[in-house]
Amino acid sequence: MFSYRHAFHAGNHADVLKHTILIATLRHLMQKEAGITLIDTHAGAGLYRLDGDYTETGGEAKDGVVKLFAALRPAGKPPAAAVAPALTEYMDLIASFNPSGALRVYPGSPFVMHHLLRAESRDRLKLFELHPTDSKVLAANIAQLEAGRQIAVAREDGFEGIKAYLPPPPSASGSKRAALLMDPSYEVKTDYGRVSACIQEQLKRFPTGTYMIWYPIIPRPEAHDLPRRLKTLSNQSKRPWLNATLAIGQDPTHGPEDRPGLTASGMFVINPPHTLKAVLQAALPQMLAVLGRGRGQGQTVDSGG
Ligand code: SAM
Repeated sequence: MFSYRHAFHAGNHADVLKHTILIATLRHLMQKEAGITLIDTHAGAGLYRLDGDYTETGGEAKDGVVKLFAALRPAGKPPAAAVAPALTEYMDLIASFNPSGALRVYPGSPFVMHHLLRAESRDRLKLFELHPTDSKVLAANIAQLEAGRQIAVAREDGFEGIKAYLPPPPSASGSKRAALLMDPSYEVKTDYGRVSACIQEQLKRFPTGTYMIWYPIIPRPEAHDLPRRLKTLSNQSKRPWLNATLAIGQDPTHGPEDRPGLTASGMFVINPPHTLKAVLQAALPQMLAVLGRGRGQGQTVDSGG
């Protein structure tokens, strides 16, 4: 079951899309004073070395974050003019983990979220990771932050574990606020059904939460159906939604025998910030202009509710 290791994929085009949307969404939510509970149901190891063994093998960051920095923030040169604010925020955050200027470290979603947490323990972060090795690495990485009770790491099934945290406890002002990232590896087909069942249940328990669900765009019926199903669930619950996709197209150096790898993915956001659509309409064309490889490339931002 546990053949998936995110380290192979850290910083790829899917991470660029996912983490750009995560940052833009959380930054907006944190404009409000009240504390918020952040939940990462599938956290991964937390921090990845871009020059390590795993990433060398797959090298997927080369077609993702590395390419983005080379184009929009080339070393030793002034950053490209008129970069969309969401991409600037994404690159600023990644750059803060790489003070030497060279891209050596990639922060996964737990560290992206931790970076945005506000002081005075106003916000809470709950992390779930089931892989025996990755959960140990995650716990060790998080321990170094000395964040105390502000961050909890659980080696538990994220689909089940969140039930204890939603609805979240009230903040000091009495409001209940939570944002959740659901980012399974989908290596087992049942993940698709578990995502929609879990979201359906949580929308009943806590309809006002912000739910961010990443999904792969691959030729598989379950993958195709997931965003449609999430749209139906949002509409049934009368909640607004946003669906953003990025397809980088086929690798022109690949022959017909080569495995194509993942070329496209999407992020479905339920109860998105009202500003998110415009933010992504500015950012995604620039993301695609840098990461797109030709045939099959494209981006979309769709919303409703
Ligand atoms: N969210 C991370 C990020 O953006 O940096 C990447 C997560 S990776 C795509 C998916 C992770 O989910 C893997 O590390 C895998 O071990 C873990 N996993 C798989 N099934 C799980 C489950 N039921 N509950 C919690 N974690 C699970």
